[in-house]
Amino acid sequence: MPELPEVETIRRTLAQHVTDLKIVEIKLIWSSAVCSWEDQSFEELVTGRRIQTIDRRGKYLLIRLDEDLTLIAHMRMTGRLNYFPEKQEPEKHTHVVFRLEKGEVHFSDVRKFGRIQAIPTPLCFSGSSLCKLGPEPLEAEFTPEVLKERFGKKKLSVKAALLDQHLLAGLGNIYVDESLFQAGISPERRVDTLAAEEISKLHHAIQTILQAGIDAQGTSFRDYRDANGEKGSFERELQVYGRGGEPCKVCGQTLERIRLAGRTTVYCSRCQR
Ligand SMILES: [Zn+2]
Repeated sequence: MPELPEVETIRRTLAQHVTDLKIVEIKLIWSSAVCSWEDQSFEELVTGRRIQTIDRRGKYLLIRLDEDLTLIAHMRMTGRLNYFPEKQEPEKHTHVVFRLEKGEVHFSDVRKFGRIQAIPTPLCFSGSSLCKLGPEPLEAEFTPEVLKERFGKKKLSVKAALLDQHLLAGLGNIYVDESLFQAGISPERRVDTLAAEEISKLHHAIQTILQAGIDAQGTSFRDYRDANGEKGSFERELQVYGRGGEPCKVCGQTLERIRLAGRTTVYCSRCQR
C-alpha cells in the first residue's frame, strides 16, 4: 500500500504534468471508483474544472480544482494515478480516465479498494475521512512532545499505535517497521512504557525514514508506481521490512517475523528493545 513517501511522490510527479490544465472529459469505466457530492454526478461536477494544485494529507491526495472543488484520492492497496501525454487506451484495471487539455490521467486499481471523492473544498476537513487524521509527521508542528501526547496512556503496542492514522497520519507497515528499527525500539513495546528519550529517538527516526523514502521516490515492492509509471528505490535501503529470517544488517542476528496489530512485523530482538 502506498504510504506517505509514495503518495508524496505521486503528488510531485502528477503536479508537474497537470497543474493549470482543464479537465475536458471524464470517462467512467467502473463508476464505484468515484463518489460525488449530493445529487450531481461526478462527471457533471468535475468536467470543465481546472486543476489548480495538488496537496497531500497523510496517505490522501487532494487535487484542488477551481470553483472550490477538491478530489480526494486514496490509493488504498493498489491504486495508481498515471499521466500520459498522449491519448491512451485504458488498461484492464483502469477505472477512470480524466481527459485533460493536454494528455490524460488514468486511475487504475487491481484490487479495487481505491477511491476518488469529489467534495467542496471547505468541507474537506469536516465532511470527509480527513477530519480525524492525526498530525502530519514531516511538519514542524510535529515534535517529540506531540508524539508523547498522542501516545498518552494508551495500552497499545507501539506498532499498533503508529499504524493508527488517527494518532499519526501517513505511516504504514513499511515505514513503521523501519522507524522502530532505527529507533532501537521493539514493535511489541507498549507506548505507555516508552521513556521520553525513546519517544524522542522514535520521532527523529520517523522523520528521517520518511524523508529518505521521499528522496528515493518511495518503495516499490509490488504495485506502487509514481505518476510517470516509474518505480521507487527505497526497497534497497530497507533494514527490516520484508527481511524476516534474514540476518540483521547491524548485528547479524536472524530477524524475527511476527504477527502484530494484524500485520506481518519484522524486527531484530537484539537491536530493538
Ligand atoms: Zn540487530
